[in-house]
Amino acid sequence: MEPNWNDWRWQLKNAIRNGDDLKSQLSLTPEEEAGLLSLRAQGGLPLTITPHFLRLIDVDNPLDPLRLQLVPRASEFKLQESERRDPLGEEDHEVVPHLVHRYPDRVLLLITDRCASYCRFCTRKRWVGQGPTPKASDLEQALAYIRAHPEVKEVLVSGGDALLLGDENLAQLLSSIRAIQSVEIIRLATRMLTFAPMRITNQLVDILQQHHPVYVMSHINHPQELASEAKDAILKLTNAGIPVLNQTVLLRQVNNDVQVLATLFRELTRLRARPYYLHQCDVASGTAHFRVPIGEALALVKKLRGHISGLCIPTFMIDIPGGFGKVPMVPDPVVKREKDRIFLEGFRGEIAAYPTD
Ligand SMILES: *Cc1c(COP(=O)(O)O)cnc(C)c1O
Ligand code: SF4
Repeated sequence: MEPNWNDWRWQLKNAIRNGDDLKSQLSLTPEEEAGLLSLRAQGGLPLTITPHFLRLIDVDNPLDPLRLQLVPRASEFKLQESERRDPLGEEDHEVVPHLVHRYPDRVLLLITDRCASYCRFCTRKRWVGQGPTPKASDLEQALAYIRAHPEVKEVLVSGGDALLLGDENLAQLLSSIRAIQSVEIIRLATRMLTFAPMRITNQLVDILQQHHPVYVMSHINHPQELASEAKDAILKLTNAGIPVLNQTVLLRQVNNDVQVLATLFRELTRLRARPYYLHQCDVASGTAHFRVPIGEALALVKKLRGHISGLCIPTFMIDIPGGFGKVPMVPDPVVKREKDRIFLEGFRGEIAAYPTD
């Protein structure tokens, strides 16, 4: 293996960034060829794949669940009427550039537009990887806003990927946020555990520990993403007392399967990374081929309950288009209502009455 393989910056420098390089690694399907042509003609979310991620792809399987997440396909360029450029209305909720204040007690700070690789279903595909890249003066404005709003108890640093900041910049950012007395919790959102888990160095862990409470919000969608390096990285964080909460996006052909989700959530829990949210794929433009119908999604969630422990089960969430916030979606266990009792369906499908008062 390359001598610098374990250096995350080497992974960024050596990432695949165009169709020709991709073709030298994978034999592309006609769907993918067409997708790459459209991407070249129309622009948009860039193609980028780190060597680490590429190595996890089974090159002989055109439906490999990792490949489907990162390689553009023609379907991405067929837009649906129900889709939106900015599905969560984030631009309307920006209080200063790159700071979204939607809930009273929390803010979302988009610290960079860059990621180590790009997911074709990204909810911020309008902006991610394309800029404008947040400037130092934007960060100053964001910090000033948080300082002026003591009701903000939590800062969620995302992007892009919060861990694409170098250690020095990250340490400085965390200190600046910590210097604001009213902020209690800091969360860092990252997909580096999947794209370049070597980002979790001892020095990074030290920096995070120095600014506690810092929660790491990972984004892992399939058990195949849990390479041994990723597992080591999660354990490095959890062993150091840094909570890892994982978000999974429900994706057609990738993870809309009870066994796949159950395996992922169980493995994460064993590493002490808590499955936090399972997200319905947002209605960003050109993502219809990834979306699982709500009925099917709820049926999957219902099947998980009872078959893996409560510790392993994330909350299934829909982020309401337009910026109205996230809501939990729960399969309804009530199958019948009478005047003084309801009928509940257990995980095995058995039905029993329960008194209502
Ligand atoms: C998702 C989100 C949060 C965090 O929500 P939680 O439910 O607390 O995880 C905060 N701000 C914005 C704008 C969000 O989209
Ligand atoms: S890592 Fe997150 S922000 Fe980056 S492309 Fe994937 S979904 Fe979008």
